[in-house]
Amino acid sequence: MAKSAGLLLVNIGQLLTLPSEADGPRRGASLSELGIIEDAAVLCLGGKIISVGTTKDALRDPWLKKNRKKVTEIDCGGRVVLPGFVDSHTHPVFMHPRLMDFEKRIAGAGYEEIAEAGGGIRSSIEGVRKASKAVLAEKVLSALHDLARHGTTTVEAKSGYGLSPESELKSLEAIRAAAKRWPGTVVPTFLGAHVVPPEFRGRSQSYVDIVCKEMLPAVAKAKLARFVDVFCDRGAFTEKETATIFGAATAHGFGIRAHLGQLSTPTAGFVESLLQTCQPASLDHMDYLNKGDLHALAASTTVATLVPGANYFLGLSCYPDARRLLESGVAVALATDYNPGTSPTISMPMAMSLACTHMRMSPAEAIAAATINGAWALGLADHKGSIEPGKDADLAVFDVRDYREIPYWFGVNRCATAIIGGVVVG
Ligand SMILES: [Zn+2]
Repeated sequence: MAKSAGLLLVNIGQLLTLPSEADGPRRGASLSELGIIEDAAVLCLGGKIISVGTTKDALRDPWLKKNRKKVTEIDCGGRVVLPGFVDSHTHPVFMHPRLMDFEKRIAGAGYEEIAEAGGGIRSSIEGVRKASKAVLAEKVLSALHDLARHGTTTVEAKSGYGLSPESELKSLEAIRAAAKRWPGTVVPTFLGAHVVPPEFRGRSQSYVDIVCKEMLPAVAKAKLARFVDVFCDRGAFTEKETATIFGAATAHGFGIRAHLGQLSTPTAGFVESLLQTCQPASLDHMDYLNKGDLHALAASTTVATLVPGANYFLGLSCYPDARRLLESGVAVALATDYNPGTSPTISMPMAMSLACTHMRMSPAEAIAAATINGAWALGLADHKGSIEPGKDADLAVFDVRDYREIPYWFGVNRCATAIIGGVVVG
């Protein structure tokens, strides 16, 4: 079907429109307002949402009466329709699952022991360095198709397992090649500062120099990424190194996002200085935070992106304190953190289920965090994340009668259909 063809969804049991009220991400009580229309219809034309309302009103519309034969009609039979999920944090460029790590961790091995046995991130680096761009692109594409099957229509995709100028560029080129073959929206992020690669152990400053002076200019020149991310934490990059990389990234015009507070609490004042100097679109993980950070975040437009899949898969008993963030007025998003080491899932409903059961977010909050706030976290809220006239026609149809069933039926896929740009993709 051509992208300009029309699509009409009727008999939607619950349509979650998530209308944009304010000019900024949702926070506090507004995260619970889903804008539900019952017995609803959505008309899409030319890849955009044209009208939203009840089925009865839609069928009375004079334009539709005249043009109904030209429009593909889907009877949703009382199912739930919501905006396609916006997964704002994934690492899809890798070759192999880390099964040895999985088994060893279950048996009680720690990070060091796994690394000594040849596992950990180093095994993913070797896989990416040895692979061709075409093979990596196939891996990314297969993840993108899987994401769409689970209701995700917009994805942020990071490099970060190459960790050399050549392999990082190859990873971003693989993301670009896969994105061209997938109808959804892919937002590429350069994560050359994921960890210090083994050959630079003890010489992290030399690696930071390469990131800033070689990799960033090359990525900017080839326009391969919209954002730059740094893993700023114990065992990865220091706050000083992070500030240096973000300084260079900002000078090249990249947007900023960071992995922060997963393993250790940032130094008091660091989050505030980041917010002031580079206005990050998103700070991700946020398991550990200072009280002052909550106030600074609440006063900013930066989104705190929580990725409970990582806590789950590592078997942790602690999760990010979502309630504290929400009650402080911080804008919260949810993402999968899809990656081979700590969160091998592409399922946003699974991330939402974990958010409900382990972080005490309500199903409504989890849905807003996985859609409209994910769009804010990627700077795409003008086009994505809600079902309103003028926005991109990216929708997910779930085979449930009540939206609360989406995080309730955990571990199974209830997504019946994903629609991207007004076209049914699966
Ligand atoms: Zn991550």
